[in-house]
Amino acid sequence: MGKITGFLEYERLAEASEAPEARKKHYREFVLHLSDEQAKQQGARCMDCGTPFCISGCPVNNIIPDWNDLVYRQEWRAAIDTLHSTNNFPEFTGRVCPAPCEEACVLRINADPVGIKSIEHAIIDRAWEAGWVAPQPAPRKTGKKVAVVGSGPAGLAAAQQLARAGHAVTVFEKNDRVGGLLRYGIPDFKMEKWLIDRRVDQMKAEGVEFRTNHVVATAAVGAGNAQARPVDPKRLIADYDAVVLAGGAELPRDLPVPGRDLDGVHFAMDFLPLQNRRVAGDQNVKDLWASGKHVVVIGGGDTGSDCVGTSNRHGAKSISQFELLAMPPDTERNPVWPYWPTRLRTSSSHEEGAKRDWSIATKRFVGEGGKVKALKAVRLDWSSGKPVEVPGSEFDMPADLVLLAMGFVSPVQSVLEAFGVEKDARNNARAGTEGKGSYKTSAPKVFAAGDMRRGQSLVVWAIREGRQCARAVDEFLMGSSELPR
Ligand SMILES: Cc1cc2nc3c(=O)[nH]c(=O)nc-3n(C[C@H](O)[C@H](O)[C@H](O)COP(=O)(O)OP(=O)(O)OC[C@H]3O[C@@H](n4cnc5c(N)ncnc54)[C@H](O)[C@@H]3O)c2cc1C
Ligand code: SF4
Repeated sequence: MGKITGFLEYERLAEASEAPEARKKHYREFVLHLSDEQAKQQGARCMDCGTPFCISGCPVNNIIPDWNDLVYRQEWRAAIDTLHSTNNFPEFTGRVCPAPCEEACVLRINADPVGIKSIEHAIIDRAWEAGWVAPQPAPRKTGKKVAVVGSGPAGLAAAQQLARAGHAVTVFEKNDRVGGLLRYGIPDFKMEKWLIDRRVDQMKAEGVEFRTNHVVATAAVGAGNAQARPVDPKRLIADYDAVVLAGGAELPRDLPVPGRDLDGVHFAMDFLPLQNRRVAGDQNVKDLWASGKHVVVIGGGDTGSDCVGTSNRHGAKSISQFELLAMPPDTERNPVWPYWPTRLRTSSSHEEGAKRDWSIATKRFVGEGGKVKALKAVRLDWSSGKPVEVPGSEFDMPADLVLLAMGFVSPVQSVLEAFGVEKDARNNARAGTEGKGSYKTSAPKVFAAGDMRRGQSLVVWAIREGRQCARAVDEFLMGSSELPR
């Protein structure tokens, strides 16, 4: 432990960020990582608890007290080695993770938690700047071949671990670029995309082969790519010793109310990837903009918040975000510590401006000449635990663009069916996570990880699953594995 009295002496410090009015004018990241001195003080706040709840709160079980202490002592090289021992991509989580570790931090009981995410961000950015993140090619090859389907954080983590164990790994990605939702989902202002390219270069130097524009089986929805070359699942099974399915959960939840088919009512994922493409410099991107429009975002989660931030940058006339559920409590402390609490969360995109409202059910969309012009909604009363429409509370809301951001129901089924993979009750790939045969599906030599196995989740969970799945595949191929779990 760095400083015994650190948590008494120093306040939690938020990372510096550009003011909302200024950052709304561009798509770049606007959060700066802590300076060395700031990170030192934040690391000093850690109490090195006998039972470090932060570690169990973190899905990749980052060894947080150790790197807090190393940063306090300014031993940055050892800090990145410790961080990398549990997390392949801290530059992703250091930017977009909701930080369940901070909800679990012991300081959270009666004070502000250690700024774990900001320390992680500082460690990894500094490590790249110092040139400490180098390729780690396997010392010897096994002669085994593994195909990974999907290049989101789960597929990338699995591929990197498997390559480091000496296997020949090929990643098949239906999109034109690698990264999954990190690339075509999460906006650039939350995470710039050169960060993915830099990791991909590292992985290529470690021997991973990427085949973009290759769709395994057929994928009817999601950020589809008509140009993608089809890959027959039977060929993968024949040509590879193991296959990892990491195709995400791309089937969006729909809102089948009258007027759904009007022009101007879109899934969030018809909208967000277009902006990622424009920022990447792509030409001929579909002409779907929020500029000058009354935008209504339906769904109160991360995806909805990203639609708000993007619409603000487009210059929308107004932005409203509706949530079906009741407004969660705005508690300062975590009432269910060390677990993840349901409470009001205000994202950086909300800070940039949006009218948020809760307990709202959309009844229909109203159009003119085939284009959406308004939506009709009603207020709900959740006091009985069930949604009850409040009599006389119906209202109209002008809307030229409606973005449906109500989550994702499951993976695209055709992919699972093409491999003959059994599904669980929520139509995800069925595979356990404990003991022998973990991450293994019902189909011979086929494994599954990330959102495709657990359903819609988080980047940090995808990394955990990719890492654990890699170990399971390594055990399957070699009889034992030295990869960490
Ligand atoms: C808009 C949005 C914002 C989000 N923001 C956050 C956030 O801030 N923080 C956070 O932690 N989480 C966030 N999430 C959730 C997070 O992005 C996902 O949980 C995570 O990316 C899942 O990783 P994955 O690798 O399992 O799948 P994905 O990232 O979905 O990647 C799957 C990849 O597989 C490819 N693929 C699918 N089928 C095939 C096929 N048949 N052949 C070839 N390739 C295929 C897809 O094209 C895709 O590239 C967000 C999600 C969305 C939609
Ligand atoms: S729970 Fe908080 S204070 Fe305790 S070791 Fe973890 S980060 Fe440090």
